[in-house]
Amino acid sequence: MLGLMQDWPLLCHRIIDHAATYHGARPVVTRSVEGPIVTTDYAKIRARALRVAKRLEKDGIKLGDRVATMCWNTWRHLECWYGILGIGAIYHTVNPRLFADQQTWIINHAEDRVMIADLTFVPLLEKIADKLTTIERYIILCDAAHMPQTTLKNAVPYEEWLAEVDGDFAWKSFDENTAAGMCYTSGTTGEPKGVVYSHRSNVIHAFMAALPDSKGLHATDVVLPVVPFFHANGWSLAFSSPMVGAALVLPGAKMDGPSIYELLDKYKVAFTAAVPTVWLMLLQDLEKTGGKLPYLKRVVIGGSACPRAMTQTFQDKYGVEVIHAWGMTEMSPLGSLCTMKPEYAALTGEARLDVQMKQGHPPFGVEMKITDDVGKPLPWDGKTFGRLKVKGPAVAKSYFKGSGGNILDDEGFFDTGDVATIDEYGYMQVTDRAKDVIKSGGEWISSIDLENLAVGHPKVAEAAVIGVSHPKWDERPLLVIVLKKGEQASKEDILGFMQGKIAKWWMPDDVAFVDEIPHTATGKIQKMALREKFKSYVLPTVEAAE
Ligand code: ADP
Repeated sequence: MLGLMQDWPLLCHRIIDHAATYHGARPVVTRSVEGPIVTTDYAKIRARALRVAKRLEKDGIKLGDRVATMCWNTWRHLECWYGILGIGAIYHTVNPRLFADQQTWIINHAEDRVMIADLTFVPLLEKIADKLTTIERYIILCDAAHMPQTTLKNAVPYEEWLAEVDGDFAWKSFDENTAAGMCYTSGTTGEPKGVVYSHRSNVIHAFMAALPDSKGLHATDVVLPVVPFFHANGWSLAFSSPMVGAALVLPGAKMDGPSIYELLDKYKVAFTAAVPTVWLMLLQDLEKTGGKLPYLKRVVIGGSACPRAMTQTFQDKYGVEVIHAWGMTEMSPLGSLCTMKPEYAALTGEARLDVQMKQGHPPFGVEMKITDDVGKPLPWDGKTFGRLKVKGPAVAKSYFKGSGGNILDDEGFFDTGDVATIDEYGYMQVTDRAKDVIKSGGEWISSIDLENLAVGHPKVAEAAVIGVSHPKWDERPLLVIVLKKGEQASKEDILGFMQGKIAKWWMPDDVAFVDEIPHTATGKIQKMALREKFKSYVLPTVEAAE
């Protein structure tokens, strides 16, 4: 027997319909790429998205076609997403921070037909355009007055292009399992792989993301998505914010400390989200200026482990609650958030921080397990660590064009490549990437734990730990440090600080001071590059062992 409820496919553009109907006047404020602040609202965004849809059809774009965007978070980018979605075409966010070769590869692999780009990226696209074999035209997000001279094929300023049609258009209707968006994983190993979201997965994921013990978004919140829409589906903020009718503040091209601070303060932002590197810049700026954060209530920090000192500073010094979150492109991307269950809610001080170092518990819609190398489930005791595997309606079942083959185990779980513990209350903690753990004498050392500890040293700006080969132990940890500007510290200072806080055999064998630690396009420490740099590094403990 079937249920007798209506057939109402979960289509992403219904979200902007809802926002326009019930939250139509809610402001969407952007620091535009051209410079000035631009204010619009959900009703106008929907109206212009309908024109985008109609205009794309006029260019011959139809159901299933891929439309690339290389754009910052702006109101125009949002209009484009919904316009693309509303005709069943697929938004493909291309990360502008990737290498040109990777971008070329990704765009060709996705067979994007149109490229929508911000002014910032015109020079970059001009360099690779002759290799982009499937792109038929470029739409530059500006008006005629700002349009640069360009060699890009059929290039047109967005506002002119849009003005060629009216907004008299009805969204297309189709199956909710239709592809909606594409995002390639950065491919730190092998070629980039295309993750393909569906309308259904995006809508379900937006519900999950907005839940009270997830991001807990409200219509009364002002939300600043610092995390770019091109990073892992923009952490759902382009969907979950309009879904609940929260006001948006979009940072455009500027994500430095002073620029973000100005937006947080001027627009009384209550909720924001980004990777730790962004918050490092903001906190350093606040330290200099003495600025305060009176309006900000919650900050979601994820993408890589949030250092303890960062959580502590946000909470104790600025009164902002940190929500540590974990996820990945393949998961749309949310996997878990560290919000408090009753078992931990009463904790304060260091004990609360201990819990907040965990990446948290999954919302409804994510199943998790940890297993050993042969797939045997491991206990949830907060200590035993194993491969973290996940399952759910917004988790990838395969990659675009079958890259990587079958990616699920016998029970349909996807191996995240992370190594983690899960405690008795279901809080997951990432111990490391499977390929980054340091294998010392058959035991595993977590590079993330060591990094978190080292950045707690008052003179340390950033820390990375890599395994360096060792004749006796196979690998031993090397701690790579960037000191805060103008500070000096010795190896003994740093190791002395760590002493007693970790098992003796976890202590790094050496400390290397560098000016800069390389980052990936999404702000993560580039362990591969560091390992390459320190490939022939000889640890001081080697001689003793030989
Ligand atoms: P990209 O490399 O393109 O940014 P993802 O954003 O999908 O790819 O990266 C997902 C990975 O990032 C996770 O598998 C995990 O290793 C890491 N990660 C994400 N959030 C956290 C976190 N809070 N703590 C530790 N690692 C994290």
